Amino acid sequence: GDFPIETDTIVIGAGPGGYVAAIRAAQLGQKVTIVEKADLGGVCLNVGCIPSKALITASHRYETAKHSDNIGITADNVSVDFSKVQEWKGQVVNKLTSGVGGLLKGNKVDIVKGEAYFVDENTLRVMDESSAQTYTFKHAIIATGSRPIEIPSFKYSKRIINSTGALNLPEIPKKLVIIGGGVIGVELGTAYANFGTEITILEGSSELFAGAFEKQMTSVVVKNLKNKGAEIVTSAMAKGAEEKEDSVVVTYEANGEEKTIEADYVLVTVGRRPNTDEIGLEQVGIKMTDRGVIEVDQQCRTNVPNIYAIGDIVPGPQLAHKASYEAKIAAEAIAGEPSEIDYLGIPAVVFSEPELATVGYTEKQAKEEGLEVVAAKFPFAANGRALALNNTDGFLKLVTRKEDGVIIGGQIAGASASDMIAEIGLAIEAGMTAEDIALTIHAHPTLGEITMEAAEVALGTPIHIM
Ligand code: FAD
Repeated sequence: GDFPIETDTIVIGAGPGGYVAAIRAAQLGQKVTIVEKADLGGVCLNVGCIPSKALITASHRYETAKHSDNIGITADNVSVDFSKVQEWKGQVVNKLTSGVGGLLKGNKVDIVKGEAYFVDENTLRVMDESSAQTYTFKHAIIATGSRPIEIPSFKYSKRIINSTGALNLPEIPKKLVIIGGGVIGVELGTAYANFGTEITILEGSSELFAGAFEKQMTSVVVKNLKNKGAEIVTSAMAKGAEEKEDSVVVTYEANGEEKTIEADYVLVTVGRRPNTDEIGLEQVGIKMTDRGVIEVDQQCRTNVPNIYAIGDIVPGPQLAHKASYEAKIAAEAIAGEPSEIDYLGIPAVVFSEPELATVGYTEKQAKEEGLEVVAAKFPFAANGRALALNNTDGFLKLVTRKEDGVIIGGQIAGASASDMIAEIGLAIEAGMTAEDIALTIHAHPTLGEITMEAAEVALGTPIHIM
């Protein structure tokens, strides 16, 4: 029998949901404990957003070094030292995760290493390898995140890998089959295609991203992947894999035909399931869907009033910035503030080549909701900076309400879409109109001028296209 430790707010999981919740709760004057069974920073910092972007950067440097002859640059003997790439990627991750540790300590958050399990609605048990400790709390925020789904015919092994395995391969594969053409599959596929791997993407639906992005956007990425030599098979049904001595043979069905394909590895990226199955949620009667997603209200409160849930375990897109956004709402709600979720301004980005980004409504979604909209498009190819960057693929689209010009959405396929989408997000958040963006002076020559020009298109007065 141990003596329970008392705390105001206990946070379970230290990913972009949990660590942000802990910091905000501490800022608001609570005594906060955060429990993490693995590494600070969660999936995002350790095996998600950050290492994948580092890999994409390295692969892109390599690819552009090799293929810039069209602008007069030729380089001989460009090579990759993959273990050095991995080492650099590890340094980036370590800098960030130790930064999170410093921030938590600086905010006087008590960091506990171990696996948390609910005993009742005010008690949590934390187990370490050798010990166990009980904590009592007034409020809890569950932020346990998600893990890759495993499909029975593709049990993870040495050559059947998930995203974590793909981030940590010992060498650049010659051939990689990717099952699932979603965001993670496309990003990792892009990285390895740049490194020279022959990739094949098997996607179950008729389009990459299962139609989550507009066809016009997706096709920009498909064209680029094909230029890299990637094969993309849509409406493909992956059936099984047979592991050999130093390869794996994947069987799939497409166009009514059964086919096989041999590769060094098969990467399975078919979705992620919430980590809500082994934390004692039954003990407290927390309501979940049959897929283990926790139901929450506008303040991220579960059906048990003093317990909140955020991030990948609650409905909505599984994105780091969504987790962090909900984290602040939950911590503020616990402190008695009237904060509430508004998902309209949450952007979604694919770090493909070129990048894809969307925020708010698409034209189609707006129309489906009966809104009358003006969708104004401007191509990257008509922008001076895009030309001078040798990145002319893609377009930007602004979705405005017809009656008053208020911006309700935007989509970008093109270089730096991930950064450019922030301006449209701000416009939505602030209730700005196309005229507000058109009147904002954007520096020349910048990609930001594309947003300004699209706003001019919405007003019917573009300068640089007819
Ligand atoms: P997590 O980050 O999953 O953190 C949960 C933490 O809880 C983990 O550290 C886990 O160890 C801990 N935990 C679980 N159970 C317990 C327990 N019982 N006791 C104690 N601790 C526990 N999102 C983006 O927005 N942008 C991107 O570019 C992006 N790229 C990605 C690339 C890849 C390869 C992957 C896999 C994901 C990517 N994501 C990206 C998604 C992003 O990583 C997640 O949406 C985000 O990490 C969710 O945050 P979270 O706090 O909900 O959970």
